[in-house]
Amino acid sequence: MKNLIFIILTTFATYGCYSQTEKKITMDSTKKDNPVSSPTDSTRAILTDEEYKKVLSPEVFYVARQKGTERPGTSKFENFKEIGTYYCAVCGNALFKSDTKFDSGCGWPSFYEPISKGSIIYLPDNSHGMNRTEVECGKCKSHLGHVFEDGPPPTGLRYCINGVVLDFEKAKVAEKTYNDQQAKPTDKH
Ligand SMILES: [Zn+2]
Repeated sequence: MKNLIFIILTTFATYGCYSQTEKKITMDSTKKDNPVSSPTDSTRAILTDEEYKKVLSPEVFYVARQKGTERPGTSKFENFKEIGTYYCAVCGNALFKSDTKFDSGCGWPSFYEPISKGSIIYLPDNSHGMNRTEVECGKCKSHLGHVFEDGPPPTGLRYCINGVVLDFEKAKVAEKTYNDQQAKPTDKH
């Protein structure tokens, strides 16, 4: 029962991020059997671990689905400075903007703030004799990393994220994708 409430809340949080237009499309949709599918991409949903194993690379599966940790200093995103958006590599959920990324020196890509409240889930993690807060993707519940309270202003938080579970899209590419999607439904001529 607790899980069900959690899923419902998560679903609401996810749907809350989309515009009215997209919401309308969702409501008109006849596919109501999958509460976690995205309003904009029905192919993205929560899969079983067996299914994830087939579609994800071994590195992504290990971190995202088995709560693994990539070796520090190995992510191409650790010192990456491009302007754009970081997405969940498993489901495509938008997670962080590049302007909230900072050099923490901890060995993993670090951000001080997620892109929206619903983009991330927080869970207590008492493994390895430590009291930490795990962060998971708000949409597919894949393990991303941990959040610590030693980050810079304005939040004072440090989201320490495994780069292997991140996908990056440059600002101009993201803008073009967005504009293309907006242009599709209505043909003005
Ligand atoms: Zn995800």
